[in-house]
Amino acid sequence: MKNRSAPIYMDSYHDKLIIKSYESFLPKVKSWIDNLLYCYSSQAKRVVDLSFPRLPQYFSKDILEMAKVVYIDLPPQIPLSSMGLTQFQDFEKMKIDGVTYYDTFFVRLPLSSIEYLHFHELVHVVQWRYLGSDRFLLLYGLELMKNKYSNSLLEMMAYQLQTRFQNTTNPFNVELVVKSGLEQEVSRLFD
Ligand SMILES: [Zn+2]
Repeated sequence: MKNRSAPIYMDSYHDKLIIKSYESFLPKVKSWIDNLLYCYSSQAKRVVDLSFPRLPQYFSKDILEMAKVVYIDLPPQIPLSSMGLTQFQDFEKMKIDGVTYYDTFFVRLPLSSIEYLHFHELVHVVQWRYLGSDRFLLLYGLELMKNKYSNSLLEMMAYQLQTRFQNTTNPFNVELVVKSGLEQEVSRLFD
């Protein structure tokens, strides 16, 4: 992947320090997410009940039954600066079309019929599930800090797979691709 050519052993120590510094924010962030999902639980639709024809070729029934979507005017962003994490203000101000928290994603209402956007957010659902919520949040934060949104590992993976979904019709197993794309990074940072 582009911009990721530094030898991995060199920055592992520094990355782990950054991750350590984020850990104390996890309870606040997770309780904000829990509250958000609780507030929108009655509006969330199961992805398996939507009539997108191609998604079942890329995601297991398990994922499609678990994942939920909320259509909304403005996808909610974690208020990181008000929680004391002031270094992500560019990210907080971004106009986003969709965002995923655990098994639920939020999509701007006018985009509710766009299958590739649902595909993109489902990649994040698979990432959340593979990593678990703590590791997802810590890795997302680390990458945002180091590489900015568009070059961050979890977003680049979702955009690359989305492009593949849009440009070809050959199905592939997203869960396997996510696992093989992340396992090295997980053991580098968390083992
Ligand atoms: Zn994304």
